[in-house]
Amino acid sequence: MKEIESILYTEEVIKEKCYELGKKISEDYSGELLVVGILKGAVPFMAELIKRIDLPIIIDFMDVSSYEGTTTSGEVRILKDLEFRVEGRDVLIVEDIIDTGLTLSYLTEVIKKRGAKSVEICSMLTKPKRRKVYVNAKYVGFEIDDKFVVGYGMDYNEKYRNLPYVGILSESVYK
Ligand code: 5GP
Ligand code: MG
Ligand code: MG
Repeated sequence: MKEIESILYTEEVIKEKCYELGKKISEDYSGELLVVGILKGAVPFMAELIKRIDLPIIIDFMDVSSYEGTTTSGEVRILKDLEFRVEGRDVLIVEDIIDTGLTLSYLTEVIKKRGAKSVEICSMLTKPKRRKVYVNAKYVGFEIDDKFVVGYGMDYNEKYRNLPYVGILSESVYK
C-alpha cells in the first residue's frame, strides 16, 4: 500500500511469533484460561495467537478509551465490559501494543480487584521508551522504538487495521 513507508513485521514473522508465544502460554497454564482481547486493535493478533494455545480457553473482549494529552494520569474508561466473571479464573489480557502502559496497568488492576486468580499480559508489540507507568507483560512479541506503527489491528484514524503486516505510515498521510 502506497501509504506505508516500510514494513517492520511481515505476516509470516508475526505468525511464527504466535507459535512461540502460544507454546509458552500452553506450557505455563494447566487448565482453563480466560483470554481477554482489547478491542479493536488486538483482534487480528488474538485470532492468530489463540489457534496456537493448546488449552481449553474461553475468549472475551473489552473496549476502553483513554484520554491522553490532557492529564498525565491518563484516565481510562470502560466502553464495553466483559461477558464473563473473572473471579477465580486465570486471565490473559491480549493487546496490540503497550505504549505509555496506562491502559494495561488500569485494566490489570480492575481484573485483579474483581478477584481473578491470576492476570497476565500478552502484547504483540511494546515500546519500552514510551512507558509512563510500569506494566508487567509476561508475553511480548516484539520490542520497537518510539515510532507510530499501523497494521495487524493497529489504526491511524481507524484505518489500516486490515493490513496483514506491521508497518510505518508515510509522513504524507499526517499532512
Ligand atoms: P497505552 O495506554 O499503553 O499508552 O496505550 C496503548 C494503546 O495506544 C494501544 O492499544 C494502541 O491502541 C495505541 N497505540 C500506542 N502506540 C501506537 C502506535 O504506534 N500505533 C497505533 N496505531 N496505536 C498505538
Ligand atoms: Mg489497543
Ligand atoms: Mg487507536
